[in-house]
Amino acid sequence: MQEKSRTTKRPPLIVDCKLCGGRFQRAVWCGPAPDHCMRSNVERSSECWSNQPDGSLLKMCAESLRSRKPSGNEMTHFISLLAGLGHAHDQSESKVQEYLADLFPEERHILLKRASAELSIYLAKQLSLLPSIEIRVPLKDRSIPEELPEGLRGKLNAYKRKLERRYSILIRKGHTRSDKYVVRELGGPIRLAHYLHANGIIDWGAVKKRDIVDFFENCAKEEVRPIFRFYRFIDTRQKFQDGRGRKKSKPSNKSPYNFQLMMPDDLNRFLAEIRSRTTDPEYLAAWLVCRMGMTATAALNINLACVERHENGHVVIKPARAWLSVPKSIERIILEVLSEIKPDWAETPPKERSLIKLFAKHIPAKLYFLDKAFQGKTRILRNSAIFSAMMRGNLDRVTLHHAMGVSMPHLVQLEKLLSADIHCRLDPEFIKKRNKHILGTADE
Ligand SMILES: [Zn+2]
Repeated sequence: MQEKSRTTKRPPLIVDCKLCGGRFQRAVWCGPAPDHCMRSNVERSSECWSNQPDGSLLKMCAESLRSRKPSGNEMTHFISLLAGLGHAHDQSESKVQEYLADLFPEERHILLKRASAELSIYLAKQLSLLPSIEIRVPLKDRSIPEELPEGLRGKLNAYKRKLERRYSILIRKGHTRSDKYVVRELGGPIRLAHYLHANGIIDWGAVKKRDIVDFFENCAKEEVRPIFRFYRFIDTRQKFQDGRGRKKSKPSNKSPYNFQLMMPDDLNRFLAEIRSRTTDPEYLAAWLVCRMGMTATAALNINLACVERHENGHVVIKPARAWLSVPKSIERIILEVLSEIKPDWAETPPKERSLIKLFAKHIPAKLYFLDKAFQGKTRILRNSAIFSAMMRGNLDRVTLHHAMGVSMPHLVQLEKLLSADIHCRLDPEFIKKRNKHILGTADE
């Protein structure tokens, strides 16, 4: 029996914690090997950081890993950042400052984003004391699929490296680029590579113009330009030059009104319905989308520097660029949320407040919340909020841009809808009858 159990392949029973460095016992055999002592399937040792007193930094670090599912590289990075933070704190408070100052701006972002609400408040304080605090969203990675043949992969990988270099140069020079820069540029070329591979092509050299044209037939419009850019990169002879430099203004076949809207009454009903199945803070986030016209991401990321107490004692908020007053019921919820995350918020310096997210504590699982509250209608709701504001007579573009953060092209589209909206005020039956006459299908 002894012999047999030695030959069965079992993972080691004792594991080193990636957070505190302590050793812990694995409680169950099945499932993936736990990497830190906050996982559910471990027996924590007494010196584990989670056994430190409440409110201590080490405990806050450990708590930040509670109920986090195992996930990719960023999570591993986050754990190592927490470990570094805890060890710096073991030495002295000034070591924490040094530690944070030495991090990359992307690493500060990861720390703030994934920290528990308590830890993020501590970090906001420490970071705001640094002379310069750059915090940057890390560049999203797009891996080149392994299953593609080497003849296609090689150039894609080279192109990816070139894009990453270009991104870092641009950022260093003070330009801004989306963190999805590489992802967006590579999406089209990768899809093209899959298409070519499926058609028996294993090398870019064998690609005929006809292949590309066929691919473009079923290609999203926003993929075409990145593919041309990719082709300029791999082909110095510029196979596609016949199409370059010519300015063709083909009418777009996409309808300009390709988004759905709710009429103001429907929006009110939907918001009331959201109210019935959400907590106060969740409703506040929904209200920011449905009334203030914020995008869901912006609403969930709103920070404490966007809330102020006006001279008249009332709370004002800044969804975009302008300060706006809020109804009493909303003011009550805002004050409630604030008192739970940062009771002294009004006296906290703006620099520190800008690092604390209003919903960090109350809405930790953003995707779950979006699903629960908006049921896939997030965009429709935001558009409807803006549209409602326009229907109420707020037609000035600059005001809407400043108050709701709507882009000008987006406003132009909504304005077109507004003029078309005359129909909505007419009886739909009347419209139907009229259309029958126009189309010549009327039978009376
Ligand atoms: Zn540990």
